[in-house]
Amino acid sequence: MPAARETLRRWFYRPWFLAMLAAALSATLLMTGSLFIAMHQVEQSESEEMNAQGERFLARLEQLFGQLRESLDDLEAQPLRGCDDEMIATLQQVSFNYRFVYEAAYRDDSRICSNRPRQEGLSLLRPPDIKGPTYSYWLNTTTEPDENRAALMLGRGNFRVATSRGHLTDMVDLSPGSSLLVVLDHGTRAIPVLGVSQAWPPTEPWPPKSPDALQVTHTRLIYRMPTNNPEYQLVLITPRTGMHVPAVWWWLLPASLALGVCVGFLVFLLVKQRQSMDAELTGAIRRGELQVLYQPIFDLDSRNCVGAEALLRWRRPDGTLTSPDLFIPMAENTGQIRQMTDFVLQRLLEQLGHLLRANPQLYISVNLAACDVMVPRIGQVMARLLTLHRVAAKQIAFEVTERGLIDVVVARENLQALRDVGHQVLIDDFGTGYCSLAYLQTLPVDCLKIDKAFIDALGHDAASSGVAPHIIHMAQALQLKVIAEGIEHEAQAAFLSSEGVKYGQGWLFAHALSAVQFIELITRGRRLGGRRLDDEA
Ligand code: C2E
Ligand code: MG
Ligand code: MG
Repeated sequence: MPAARETLRRWFYRPWFLAMLAAALSATLLMTGSLFIAMHQVEQSESEEMNAQGERFLARLEQLFGQLRESLDDLEAQPLRGCDDEMIATLQQVSFNYRFVYEAAYRDDSRICSNRPRQEGLSLLRPPDIKGPTYSYWLNTTTEPDENRAALMLGRGNFRVATSRGHLTDMVDLSPGSSLLVVLDHGTRAIPVLGVSQAWPPTEPWPPKSPDALQVTHTRLIYRMPTNNPEYQLVLITPRTGMHVPAVWWWLLPASLALGVCVGFLVFLLVKQRQSMDAELTGAIRRGELQVLYQPIFDLDSRNCVGAEALLRWRRPDGTLTSPDLFIPMAENTGQIRQMTDFVLQRLLEQLGHLLRANPQLYISVNLAACDVMVPRIGQVMARLLTLHRVAAKQIAFEVTERGLIDVVVARENLQALRDVGHQVLIDDFGTGYCSLAYLQTLPVDCLKIDKAFIDALGHDAASSGVAPHIIHMAQALQLKVIAEGIEHEAQAAFLSSEGVKYGQGWLFAHALSAVQFIELITRGRRLGGRRLDDEA
């Protein structure tokens, strides 16, 4: 098993393998993503079209039904009853007045007469499909494809009016395979008015639970049209046109492949660069290019130096300095940070062991990375070095950032173990992470370091200018010490001191100093002279 893991790990270190993997993954992702978006757009436009068609049909059908009802009202209102020439003329007049009335008829127990005497469209004797208080409706009165047959009939009293199939198809231009149905009896029965016959109901349950007018199934679009009459509802069913991949997607295909290749190439370059940075860092440690500087921490009232923060520097052979902000994150990724933390601890005790023994109140704080906090290793390394150099544990403090506390439970245990042997634990860059008051209370810490960003904001109108005082009050409530970072102006120091902050570090007092400079500062009496101290770098 370990052998297989080792082989896998080796593969993942090969730039070309990672590049190909990235290219394949990104191309697949781009292609499926663009296909998904394209199909979604097709679906959306299909739905929009159906909604628009449904609304159009409904408006037209309302117009048609309106005319049929009006013509019936006219017939009912006029005084003639019975079948005579005058009645035939009246029926013809109605059919002439109303465009959608194809046939108008009078019917009583003995006779039936219509404006189209030779046709049998209205000789229908079956009971109405819908019987309302004023009007009755006969649907689908003919199934013959003859356009001149009455297809939809309305009745009031002794009169009947009908529209022809031709009129209906003119009004409702159904696409092939579609049907227009009238749904009766609370959705249990549906009568096709136009188009092919459909199995009913089209979806289970019917009516659907969703209030949306449009229902989309795999094969069909079903549009429910509300009507003014609660007795019936119109439903339009259309087969889906099939999910055609839009033409533009075929252009996206080569584009995705090209982008995938670009991503692969970039990954190749990045991995190569990272590998060379890896190698460079390893070389830097071996060749002794890493240095530790010490930025003094002062008591803000007495301006006495109480300790220092150990800060790493990478001085390249050509003399240039690489900022820890650049190489620390990389070392954290590659795991080389452990080596670096060990280096800082070892170097600081070698350089300052004597000073710390001579000044038992002095302390040095060391920055820990997330992976240092996740295992108890640091405690063991530290214990060995402290014994070797005969330095007290309380003289070494550890700084952890909020972001470094990935697994709080494990981190809490390890930090507590460090405190148990006498080390102090500080939260660095406080305020830039996600630590809340409630969360902070559960952590074994002694001190908060307020991030420079909030010190910079002091005295400005920026929204963040109130953060530092807030952190200070919070720390006071929790009886935690506070160190202000990045103090550059006297006014900031004075304000922080008036707020009750006891300690601070920053360029106002001193840059990061070499070990020699720091020893000199302490042995000179720890007090600041008139001028600022500058680092050797
Ligand atoms: P940090 O721990 O918050 O360290 C404070 C940073 O602010 C240092 O930058 C320091 O030089 C800078 N600083 C202090 N006072 C002032 C000021 O008045 N003005 C300005 N502009 N800057 C000031 P540096 O040394 O570049 O370190 C940057 C970060 O790199 C550190 O932030 C820390 O997170 C990390 N780092 C440095 N050394 C180590 C190390 O040995 N181990 C680990 N894990 N991280 C380290
Ligand atoms: Mg720090
Ligand atoms: Mg900091």
